[in-house]
Amino acid sequence: MQVMLLPVWFRVLLLLDPGLTAPALVLEGGSTPSPEPQLDLQLATDYLHQYYNLQTDPSGRMRRSGLSFTSKVKDMQAFFGLNETGVLDSDTLEVMRSPRCGVPDVEDFSQVQGTRWNKNILSYSIGRYTRDLPLSTVDSLIQSALAVWARASGLTFVRLHTSSADIRVEFVTNAHGDFYPFDGPRGTLAHAFGPGLGAGGDTHFDDDERWTAGGGSGFDLLMVAAHEFGHALGLKHSRSPGSVMYPTYKMSRPSNLLSREDEANIQALYSNQILPGSTCPQIVRNVPWMSRPLFPRLMQDRCAPDLTFDAVSTLGDATFFFRDRYLWIKHNEQSDIKEGPISNFMPKIETRIDAAFWIPRRSAAYLIHGSTFWTVRGSVIKGKPKALSFFGFPAWVQSVEAAVHVVRTGRTLFFMQHIYWSYNENRKVMDFGFPRSISEDFPGVNATINAAFYKEKFIYFFLGPHVYKFDLTLKHVVGVESSRSWLSC
Ligand code: ZN
Ligand code: CA
Ligand code: ZN
Repeated sequence: MQVMLLPVWFRVLLLLDPGLTAPALVLEGGSTPSPEPQLDLQLATDYLHQYYNLQTDPSGRMRRSGLSFTSKVKDMQAFFGLNETGVLDSDTLEVMRSPRCGVPDVEDFSQVQGTRWNKNILSYSIGRYTRDLPLSTVDSLIQSALAVWARASGLTFVRLHTSSADIRVEFVTNAHGDFYPFDGPRGTLAHAFGPGLGAGGDTHFDDDERWTAGGGSGFDLLMVAAHEFGHALGLKHSRSPGSVMYPTYKMSRPSNLLSREDEANIQALYSNQILPGSTCPQIVRNVPWMSRPLFPRLMQDRCAPDLTFDAVSTLGDATFFFRDRYLWIKHNEQSDIKEGPISNFMPKIETRIDAAFWIPRRSAAYLIHGSTFWTVRGSVIKGKPKALSFFGFPAWVQSVEAAVHVVRTGRTLFFMQHIYWSYNENRKVMDFGFPRSISEDFPGVNATINAAFYKEKFIYFFLGPHVYKFDLTLKHVVGVESSRSWLSC
């Protein structure tokens, strides 16, 4: 295991104080105080937030009482077989400092239980490589890690050289476009998305780690990859230290990467799969969650002629297209389009998005749902949703249908049926004289606006399956195109 940074006798005790938003720290069990008790509390807060669903407010402090913090410490101690004291003792802190997988140990309630691939031949591809190892070594370690699961499950893995494979493997650093930023050396080593469309199955390795083919200092790519591919196939974390699905990194590679438990779990997940070579494919058991598609058919056909969007916004170097709980992402520099449920990309968002806008100078996007909105900065959702009334709407405005930020004027426009408001982002007030009529100020835009998007002195109004290009200088519509043409159809 890693080097212990704290003497064993040292313990940090959390006391509950209803008057404080954060638990008070008290030292116990030794005459020498901890060098950094606040750092330990910060470490524990971050850890429980990331892996045990501890809720924090935007400043990072515990939102509710210290009670939920203590109970989360106990959850974590139970998972790792430690004494369930709720106290940040040295054993607990040692586990919290151990390098590990980025996937939470407790179920995110948004995740579908028991998700698996509904096919037995899966494709994979390798995008960005690490420079720590020769390309051919990375190729063979990835192949070996998949082979471990192939042997146990009867699944077949086929390598592709396109980005559209089921399992897309990439070495990336820090924020990398999926709302689970990496954290530099140590800490989180890798993460993977469970089976599904778009990001589903994708497996990312933190390239701020030193990756090895086993031996020496650094992290053994084969072991970490075998763990992550377990997630990509639908397995959760195991509490058994012998399991490949144990969340923390193991210093030595066991002779059999999979334990009996791992083999049983993967077989339970895929045993009633259509068998390779069977001439008459059949599904033995009718599993309820398999018989209904995750999304309506329309949602999966981005090229449907009547496709409409709820909201369209820039976010970083990509354009996001929202429809119900589904999302398409078109990167400016890439031709392929990522797609999937919104919660695949933004784990906190379980609803549809009514309107969205992007303020480039703040590198921030604002996603509106009903009478609340989220702020997204970089690739991280900042805190809890805020009330739409923040912008100064009258009380009867409980939702908007579209929003757009006009960089040239520093104004954000909010559209609702036939009227709109203008918000001054510099002075942070609603402009005087609003709401005004949409059709008077935007002649040619005569139906309900589903979504609006600003680019280079034009506003693009999405009205049903059509997009109206409005020239802000000429003050009239200069072109009409289909919504789906924005998704390369
Ligand atoms: Zn994991
Ligand atoms: Ca890391
Ligand atoms: Zn990632």
